[in-house]
Amino acid sequence: MTVLLQGPAEGGVGHRLWMYSNYHCNLVCAYCLTESGPKVARRELDPATMLELAQEAKEVGFTALGITGGEPFLVPELPELLAELSQVLPVLVLTNGTLFQRALLDRMATLRGCDVTLQISLDHAEPEANDVMRGPENFRKVVEAVPELLKRGIAVRIATTVEEDDADDLERLCALHRGLGVSDEDHVVRPVIRRGRAETGEMGVIARYLDLEPELTITADGAFWSPFAPTVRRGVLDTDLLLTRTVRPLQRPLDAMLTVAGGRPEGADSTLNIR
Ligand code: SF4
Repeated sequence: MTVLLQGPAEGGVGHRLWMYSNYHCNLVCAYCLTESGPKVARRELDPATMLELAQEAKEVGFTALGITGGEPFLVPELPELLAELSQVLPVLVLTNGTLFQRALLDRMATLRGCDVTLQISLDHAEPEANDVMRGPENFRKVVEAVPELLKRGIAVRIATTVEEDDADDLERLCALHRGLGVSDEDHVVRPVIRRGRAETGEMGVIARYLDLEPELTITADGAFWSPFAPTVRRGVLDTDLLLTRTVRPLQRPLDAMLTVAGGRPEGADSTLNIR
């Protein structure tokens, strides 16, 4: 059982500090937690702030960083920023994997040898089923990008988000990711969470704070309980899982998180397995 009264150095809250680099996206997925899309407000954390937060995270005991959005690779300086962040702590970056055209792939070379892992979304083994939720050409772009990234020495995980269990579909998807060069250990499967667009569309499972791992998450709007927390519904930011509006010094939202975590009933570890 997680010891919730301790800080990240002792393993009390999640060891990874998450940062929302931005909220805009080139896609408009049906279940998007943040209602992201090309026309939404960007709400970016600027690169200098992210680097400073990474340093603070290391000082207070975090051992890894997570970058998410929105689509982080819409931030123009992202490859170089990831290289710098990885000099501080190992980085996991969540991406839809659709922007890796030649020019961006060339710039990704800067990440060879860096402790940076890309977690790319791919939900189904066939383009039709995949693209109905994520948009046209999504499947093709992802299956083309993964081998190109691996060829450049960049670590890749596949993340599958499913509305309902389908063992046959999952088996075909696993055969696909193995064929692309991604092992079973680097494939995560999680349910649609009923927040953001998924809530509007009445999809997915309901997640309250007891269901979500305490993983401190920093956005342009404040610090939240989990990367599944700073969601948007009908254009309005959800604040039910907001910890503090002030994010620096990082110790301040961390203290707020530890206070809340300390009030969780014994045994109330995460139940949804959504990381
Ligand atoms: S789920 Fe991800 S890829 Fe899809 S619209 Fe939202 S941020 Fe973009």
